[in-house]
Amino acid sequence: MLSENSPVSSPRIVIIGGGVAGALVAIQLLKRSAPGTVLTLVERTPPVGRGVAYGTNSCAHLLNVPVERMGAFPEAPGDFLRWVGERLGRPRFPAAVAPGDFLPRCIFGEYIAYLLTEARQRADPGIAFTVRTGEVVDLSERSTGDGARVYFADETELVADRVILAIGNLPGEYPVRSGRQVYRSWRYVHVPWQPGAIERIAPDADVLIAGQGLSAADIVLELADQGHRGRIFCLSRRGLRHKPHVPGGVYRDFLAGETAPITLLALFRRIRREVRAAAAGGVSWEGVIDAIRPHSHRLWQALDWRERARFLRHVRPYWEIHRHRLAPETDRRLSALEASGQASFLAGRFVHLEETPDGLRVTYRRRDAAADEFLHVAKLINCTGPRSDYSKYQHPLLVNLLARGLIDHDPLALGVSALPTGQVLRYRGGPIPWFYTLGAPLKGVLWESTAVPEIRRQAVVVADELLGAESGAA
Ligand SMILES: Cc1cc2nc3c(=O)[nH]c(=O)nc-3n(C[C@H](O)[C@H](O)[C@H](O)COP(=O)(O)OP(=O)(O)OC[C@H]3O[C@@H](n4cnc5c(N)ncnc54)[C@H](O)[C@@H]3O)c2cc1C
Repeated sequence: MLSENSPVSSPRIVIIGGGVAGALVAIQLLKRSAPGTVLTLVERTPPVGRGVAYGTNSCAHLLNVPVERMGAFPEAPGDFLRWVGERLGRPRFPAAVAPGDFLPRCIFGEYIAYLLTEARQRADPGIAFTVRTGEVVDLSERSTGDGARVYFADETELVADRVILAIGNLPGEYPVRSGRQVYRSWRYVHVPWQPGAIERIAPDADVLIAGQGLSAADIVLELADQGHRGRIFCLSRRGLRHKPHVPGGVYRDFLAGETAPITLLALFRRIRREVRAAAAGGVSWEGVIDAIRPHSHRLWQALDWRERARFLRHVRPYWEIHRHRLAPETDRRLSALEASGQASFLAGRFVHLEETPDGLRVTYRRRDAAADEFLHVAKLINCTGPRSDYSKYQHPLLVNLLARGLIDHDPLALGVSALPTGQVLRYRGGPIPWFYTLGAPLKGVLWESTAVPEIRRQAVVVADELLGAESGAA
């Protein structure tokens, strides 16, 4: 068997998934691999570098992180701001840009695609780089234990010495079990990012969105932009909407040098104390939350699985809405739609779904209400947020990886079992020397693992690990 991280002289590296995570790790490898390396980036829905979040064409879909923090490299978070500054006034680009601006997400997709092309042009000519369109459905470990065969849906295959799983988030759960035949109807949209999600809706018809997170905000604004006049309902269990970014000031790095608390109670006491101190100094809670971000992996890892489970049960929904904040413009538009009565954000749960000749009849129960209520809508769009339990998602790749014992879910089923450096752990076993992951699959290990500031760091760490260098970026 291959010993951990044994160098391969002319490695064949396959990256599965060409979203931001796959593209950023490809860029790192193009910069630093030795001649002879054969690098393949596989994406089932090109173009690469955009994925779900940045593949949107709607300029109403704004980044939820200011431009100054969206750079593709951990050592240069302002790189995106610089890049945009060099393109002001071009189609889709703003006429001017300030560090705290929230730009359309499609511009960020263009930035990543540009960086990938540039890295490709600058790479050592001895590195062979291919972008391959295709869907990976299986991996089998070579009998020597030093790599894998990568199988595609079109029945072709590749041999790899190293594989990086960069498949992003899984689609969400179904909103309710009762009335499941509705899920076969065109009136139900399971994946909100798919083209056509808001097509075939009469302008005056009512629409229901399951969830109130960032994807729900996208859909509401897209409907408004296409002149929708009917009512738009968003239903989620707690009815919590993401908070907007406010100019609250930057807060000091209060956790630097501190030992991370080992209980949730101690952690949140510490945060509350700091929020009070910040307020006394005129800094809002947003500054404190942002100051936690660089320490989030360390804080998560200091908690044992019981404490992490407690976090999921009691804190998660509140953490999400405070930590992943909306662009102020997005929030302003949502609030205006709510004030006009067109958009309603409801707290409650789905009870039953039924298709009628002209729509969907949705039975739901408001939080703390004793009786069911009903909505009649033209379409139901599922924006409940990504599911994380890899053992329940029936994509052939994940089913096969589980069956072969090449992945396992972490104890809370938030992602796959892996080391913090991205090396995947075998089912009830140790690290697989040729297999790495980054982004959403590392959520159980790192918690904050799906946004660009975390992914750009992970891309460096995975490249370091894979190229056998010491990582200073974790
Ligand atoms: C609506 C929305 C808005 C967001 N806004 C921001 C933001 O403003 N700032 C921020 O930092 N983060 C934001 N995020 C977080 C976002 O998830 C990350 O920034 C980033 O896009 C994740 O990239 P990824 O490559 O890990 O996943 P993805 O973008 O999901 O890419 C994974 C890719 O893998 C491909 N793939 C999957 N399985 C296979 C297979 N078997 N074979 C071949 N290809 C496969 C998919 O087609 C996909 O293109 C947002 C997320 C969403 C959903």
